[in-house]
Amino acid sequence: MLELAVTAATTLAAASFAGYHAMAPGSQVYGRSLVRGTNARQLALTYDDGPNDPHTLRLLEVLAKHDVRATFFLVGRYVQQRPQIVRELAKAGHVLGNHTFTHPNLIFCSELQTRIQLAECSRAIEDAAGLSPKLFRPPFGGRRPSTLRIAREMGLEPVMWSVTGWDWEAKPADYVEGKVTGQVKGGDIVLLHDGGHREMGADRSQTVIATNNLITRYKGEGYQFVTVQEMKN
Ligand SMILES: [Zn+2]
Repeated sequence: MLELAVTAATTLAAASFAGYHAMAPGSQVYGRSLVRGTNARQLALTYDDGPNDPHTLRLLEVLAKHDVRATFFLVGRYVQQRPQIVRELAKAGHVLGNHTFTHPNLIFCSELQTRIQLAECSRAIEDAAGLSPKLFRPPFGGRRPSTLRIAREMGLEPVMWSVTGWDWEAKPADYVEGKVTGQVKGGDIVLLHDGGHREMGADRSQTVIATNNLITRYKGEGYQFVTVQEMKN
């Protein structure tokens, strides 16, 4: 009886350990992924779940106004629906990353399913913009031991984040700004969303406003905004 209880407790602990490391952005247990840069005067803005009509285009205007380049982790099926927006992103000098084709939690995907998700997303981006993504971010931050290995084998470097704006529920802009400013230490990769993985057209107007204010604030403090690609160099 005691032995059973101990076994159950061990199993529970192992399960929660696996759960934590599968989702925690900073965990390196399942293979290395980029979480932050080494230059404390740099910040990298990253946007997930686009392209999203019309909010990605509004965001593009804000980034252009400030002459800032960002990194976009795109959902392949949306890339197929709005290839023109993806071409606009590439033309403006933003970095395009792979965020799978349909945004599943890869923890629950087989190796074959994972390969298909990554390959289909990369192909959609290639078809739209004529370039191959080199960076990959797992949906929900979810990965298991094989996920990052498969990504690397396919020439995709895993990128997580060190700061999250908690903007996926369309929170007010000042809420998102407060979340970001409360976590920035310098050298951060900031997680924001220009799209929503459930549907095209998710309201990201507050993220666009928050982006404008965050760039104004941190440029004023002397920070340099870079892409994740530049942060790695
Ligand atoms: Zn996502």
